[in-house]
Order: sequence, then structure tokens, then C-alpha cells
Amino acid sequence: MPERTRHSVVPVVTEVAAGVHFVQGPASNWTILSGDGTASLIDTGYPADFDLLRATILDVAGDVPIDAVAVTHGHSDHTGGVRGLLEAFPGLRVLAAAEELPNIRRDELIQVGVPQLAPYLWRPRFAAWARHAIAAGGLSDVGVPDPEAWVAGSGLTLSGHTVVPQLAPGHTPGHSVYLLPDAEAIATGDALVTGHAVLPTLGPQPIHRVFDHDRDRALETFASINWRRRGIAVLPGHGPVLLRP
Ligand SMILES: [Zn+2]
Repeated sequence: MPERTRHSVVPVVTEVAAGVHFVQGPASNWTILSGDGTASLIDTGYPADFDLLRATILDVAGDVPIDAVAVTHGHSDHTGGVRGLLEAFPGLRVLAAAEELPNIRRDELIQVGVPQLAPYLWRPRFAAWARHAIAAGGLSDVGVPDPEAWVAGSGLTLSGHTVVPQLAPGHTPGHSVYLLPDAEAIATGDALVTGHAVLPTLGPQPIHRVFDHDRDRALETFASINWRRRGIAVLPGHGPVLLRP
């Protein structure tokens, strides 16, 4: 059954282009690329979103093998479904920027912790966000053993779609965005969000500063994303899709 959130009933599935579906999940988002008899993903939601992740893939792509997951960054609300997918599809490729691989493997953890969050947790929005994050498996081990680095400057082909990764650091050192030139879309991860449980407004904006590893770099990255371009579809890490007419 769909779950009602503060903003909408989820999941909200938007067909951005043929074989490109954006899913606004309960708290974070993923994108499904399908074609060539396979499906691939950009991000995967929290561990607790796994059944919803599988259901949305089945719904838009059918019962096809999952070829690859391109990860924007190694936070548990974006990589939470990867382990489950690897169990079902052991040949799954997990792709990310070289700079992000230690965070995805969990050799190190570059993610907001209790000391940074403590000053905020008295606020109702943060308290509600934290309750959801914990219930959704945000503190569980989501480390992925063998992620691969994409090669800078060269495009990927994922389930028949050209995907161009770009380093977009600040939120984490190796945060990436993924351009989908054929769909005129950009998956921005947490470099740009259009809503988030702790943010009071909807619309393109940086994520709350407490979640950024390097706020100044994150703001530079945010400013570099041309989300105002006519015709572009912005697929954020959190919040609804933004379709520019
Ligand atoms: Zn994040």
C-alpha cells in the first residue's frame, strides 16, 4: 500500500523518457533505466525500501535481470538496496566515483553522526526524520564489497542508455551526478534536492547543511547544476521530480 508522507503519497513513479523512470520513494529516490532486456538503477533507497524497490522495477521493466547500480554516494538512504540486489543478481555491477569507493565499501564512513545531529534533534522535523531513518535501516551496515570506479570523461551504457557520470563533491568527497543525455535528464543525488523531511520548503535547493561533509564545496557544486535549463528533467535524491517545460 502506498504510504502517505508530509508531501505526497509514495511511491510516485514518473516516466521521464522511454525506459527512464524516476521513483520518489518514502524518504529518498531512485531511477530505473530499462532496455536491452535488463534494468539498471541510479541509487536504491534505504534498506527498508527494498520490497518497494523490487516492486517498482517489476512494474516498469518487468521481471528482468538487474545489470548495474550507479551510486551517487555511499549514504544508507541511497545504497540501502544494493546488498539485496547483489544476493539476487551476483553479477551486478556497482559503479561510483573512485573518490567514493571507500565510503561505499564502509572502509570509512563519511555520513552525518549523532554528535553533528544532536543540536538539531529537538526540532520536530529532525526528530521525525531521525525516527524514519532509524526505522528504515539507516544505521545498519550497508557496505558493498566490490564497487567499481567509473572512468572520468567516458560515458557508461546501462541497460541501453548512455549515462555520463560527473564528480559533484561536497555532500561527500566522491559524490556524483549522472547525466542522461538522451532523456535530457540529470540525476543529482544529494547535490540538489527538491524537498527533504527536515527542509520547510519544496523546490531546488541544497540539502540541509548538517548532512554535507564540505558545505562550501557542496554549495559550489549546487551552483554548477544548470537546473533552470528549459527542457531538462531534474531527478533529485530527495523530493519530487522537477520537469522544466
Ligand atoms: Zn546523502
